[in-house]
Amino acid sequence: MPARDGGLCRIRLPGGVLHAGQARALAAAASLHASGIIEATNRANVQLRGVSAAHEAALVEQLLAAGLGPQDGAGSLNERDNVRNIMLSPLAGRGVGSLLDTRPLAAALLDMLQTTPAFAALSPKFCLLLDGGEALAATRHAHDIWLAALPADGAGPRLALGLAGCPPAAVRDEPPLAIVRPHQVVAVVAALLQAFLQLARPAQHRMREVLAEHPAATVLAHAQLHVDFALGTDPALANWHRAPEATGLRVGIHAQQSDAGMPTCYYVGAQLPLGRIAAADLLQLADISQGTLHFTPWQSVLIPDLSEARAHATQAQLQAMGLLTDPGDPLASLIACAGSTGCGKAQADVKTDALALAGLLARPQAVHLSGCERSCAAAHSARWTLLAVAPARYDLYQHSDQGGFGTCLAQQLTLAQAAAFINAQPARTDSLDA
Ligand code: SF4
Repeated sequence: MPARDGGLCRIRLPGGVLHAGQARALAAAASLHASGIIEATNRANVQLRGVSAAHEAALVEQLLAAGLGPQDGAGSLNERDNVRNIMLSPLAGRGVGSLLDTRPLAAALLDMLQTTPAFAALSPKFCLLLDGGEALAATRHAHDIWLAALPADGAGPRLALGLAGCPPAAVRDEPPLAIVRPHQVVAVVAALLQAFLQLARPAQHRMREVLAEHPAATVLAHAQLHVDFALGTDPALANWHRAPEATGLRVGIHAQQSDAGMPTCYYVGAQLPLGRIAAADLLQLADISQGTLHFTPWQSVLIPDLSEARAHATQAQLQAMGLLTDPGDPLASLIACAGSTGCGKAQADVKTDALALAGLLARPQAVHLSGCERSCAAAHSARWTLLAVAPARYDLYQHSDQGGFGTCLAQQLTLAQAAAFINAQPARTDSLDA
């Protein structure tokens, strides 16, 4: 798609995972056909900016050859790519708190989505959440369909399911609409998508728009017609809520979940400064990982499955590259969108301003700088949001239950004024938590 700084190419990474060989291919493609900068997105994907005119076809061909695109199936390339919109924990199957390894289910869902011709009609914004229960997860952003692992019962693993929202984090939130077993997940998602397509009018692209006219029970009743097992909930789970997230676990060295008797593995998390990495650095990252890189929804990357000694050596290598592995670094807790250098909608150069703000903050604070209300850098509401209203001028919001960016506390602030306001607030130990 066009942008102020040239073409923009978004590359969806299943589960945020980029294999080392794919990272090398991506770095080569970024250098040859685009600006040479790779950006992390808020759905754990990556994008290339500054794609040169007339290079689009060659870029796509190079990416597909590296396995960075949809598989063959029904519909056009774009249609098959658009449906690949499933969010997992960046530590799916590995993270502390994991109740269920969601990776096989995600692969089966992706296969179903790409090969079912009817689902090519879904909007590129239609999204699914498949939550395994990991502490490091982004589950507070509303998804059209969400599934979340529950503690297993006598019959084995099970998942709660809901529409146009997210797993309940408190008892006041919407309870699950249905409870399903892992082997039923692909069928139930396909049934819900068919129900959505039957009920949605042409102008309705998201589940919440359908729910504004039909109760969730109606959508479920339509879905029931497409599966041969009963869709229902468990009254005993009416007050179930998901364990709290710990998004600060994205930076630094942390233990992975390990099976009894197995050695503990570790991962290293590093924030990409302002969500960007140069092609040469991505090559270096691929060499360091020797396996897979896991992009996160917070503009950061993880390298998993390391011994403790290797985790420390890896952290030192990442630090030497300029990646942020210290949660105490104020820049590690800042996220910013492309801003006015890359986007025509931006009211300010938020990337440059974020660097300046990092130097003004007395301690790390989760701050999101957004060039406009579209909030491309963050699907969630950060603790603090600076919404650009003019060059180097921002309205300051604090996260609250009222949705959007939260509560507007002050308007038209300079960066120094915003930093002074934030610095005056009580310190929190979980500075990276959004
Ligand atoms: S949030 Fe607004 S200014 Fe920033 S990249 Fe998105 S559309 Fe552009």
